[in-house]
Amino acid sequence: MNGLMMQQSLLISSLLTHAERHHGEQEIVSRRVEGDIHRYTFRDMAARARRMANAIAALGVKHSERVATLAWNGHRHMELYYAASGSGAVLHTLNPRLHPDQVSWIADHAEDQVLFFDMSFLPLVEAIAPRVKTIRHFVAMTDRAHMPKDARVPGLLCYEDLIDGSSDRFDWPEFDENTAASLCYTSGTTGNPKGVLYSHRSTLLHTFAAALPDALNCSVADVILPVVPMFHVNAWGLPYVACMVGAKLVFPGPALDGKSLHELFEREGVTLSAGVPTVWQGLLAHVESHGLSFRTMRRTIIGGSACPPAMIRTFQDRYQVHVLHAWGMTELSPLGTVCSFKPKHLALSQEERFAVQAMQGHALYGVDMKIIDEDGSELPWDGQCSGDLLVRGPWIVSQYFRGEGDPLVHSDGKGWFPTGDVASIDADGFMRITDRSKDVIKSGGEWIGSIDLENIAMAHPQVAMAACIAAYHPKWDERPLLVVVKKPEQALSREKLLAFYEGKIASWWTPDDVVFVDEIPLGATGKMLKHKLRETFKSYQLP
Ligand code: ADP
Repeated sequence: MNGLMMQQSLLISSLLTHAERHHGEQEIVSRRVEGDIHRYTFRDMAARARRMANAIAALGVKHSERVATLAWNGHRHMELYYAASGSGAVLHTLNPRLHPDQVSWIADHAEDQVLFFDMSFLPLVEAIAPRVKTIRHFVAMTDRAHMPKDARVPGLLCYEDLIDGSSDRFDWPEFDENTAASLCYTSGTTGNPKGVLYSHRSTLLHTFAAALPDALNCSVADVILPVVPMFHVNAWGLPYVACMVGAKLVFPGPALDGKSLHELFEREGVTLSAGVPTVWQGLLAHVESHGLSFRTMRRTIIGGSACPPAMIRTFQDRYQVHVLHAWGMTELSPLGTVCSFKPKHLALSQEERFAVQAMQGHALYGVDMKIIDEDGSELPWDGQCSGDLLVRGPWIVSQYFRGEGDPLVHSDGKGWFPTGDVASIDADGFMRITDRSKDVIKSGGEWIGSIDLENIAMAHPQVAMAACIAAYHPKWDERPLLVVVKKPEQALSREKLLAFYEGKIASWWTPDDVVFVDEIPLGATGKMLKHKLRETFKSYQLP
């Protein structure tokens, strides 16, 4: 017997109509590529999204065809999120930090039909325009006054012209909630990038789960500034969460330096932000060197790579900002775990709480996880054993877009997604990533967690950035090599840094050597590219 409740598809357009009706006056503030600050309301945004939905239809985009963007976090990008997905097309957020060859490869693979882009990416669009095979229209996300005069892009259209020339009457269509809504390619440190195709249903379920108090804890009282780009896993879902709860949104545009971000935090009363650790380094350095503080910001979500405990401590001790450490992947929409406290943690000392916060946290409702050993047997949740982390759930990839094969492993009669991360899980269900399987250092058959070694180095006051990689060792196969960027004008020696490890880890985990470099290569999403470092130090002779 079926239940007797209404059957209504979970569609992204419903987030927009909800926000318009119930939070119509709430603000969206954007720092634009044009240099100005733009502000309007959810009501204005919804009307413009409807105009843009009409414009997209007029450009000939059909159901499930891909509408691509190359854009910063801003109000026009937000309009496209809803106009494209809401009207039944697929929003494809391209990552502008990739090499032009990769961008055009991805656009071809996705069979993008229209490309919307911010003016900062005009050179990139000029480079790919002659090559891409399926894009029929290019649209510059600006107004007539800022249109380039002599762009080498065929039939370049102007975003504001499309808005002005379209009606704001548009009835969001109803369709199956399993319809594809948006597409995001993983940066692909090896092999070709792979497309993860989210559905309306997976996005809505992820949004519900992300907004909950013990997840990202978002409410109408929040002012949310996502630093994490809208081209990187939909800014961790925050553009959807903001509409669901009616929170004010602040978009930083291209200005991601510490000074610009801090100005915006203070001026707009930001309460919650989100980004990868490297972004916060720039912000903290600026705030520290200018003796500034945060008037309203009380929480920040840090994920994408392990948040160094030293950063958690600095945010809390100096600025009273609580770090919410989260773990996720493009394949997980992206949220898998969040490190919010259980009541028993509140009784712990500050030091003990920092140790909890350094973990990646508990699974969101909807995410099932387990760790397995090399034979595929499940490992206990004792906080000690670490193994390959597998997950499953309604917002986790089951197959890559137009991809070969099945990304899942099949165990206990179910399909599980192998994350490629190595983790332990404690009795409370708190997960701790110790490594990525390909970054793990295997010394004499035993694993050494590179993240722990990096975290210790990062706690040293003279270290700006640290990566730990495996270097070849004739006896042990691999031993840890620490690659370090010093803070400006600091005279830190190898010996002093290695002495800093004493008493903090088992002595055999101590790195065999330290190399100081000017910079560590970062990927398109701000993560350290350890495979590049491994390549650079391939023939490094350990002492
Ligand atoms: P990419 O694979 O291109 O880096 P993702 O952004 O999807 O793309 O990255 C997911 C990976 O990032 C995870 O598998 C994990 O290795 C790492 N990661 C994400 N969040 C954390 C975190 N809080 N701590 C440690 N690693 C993390």
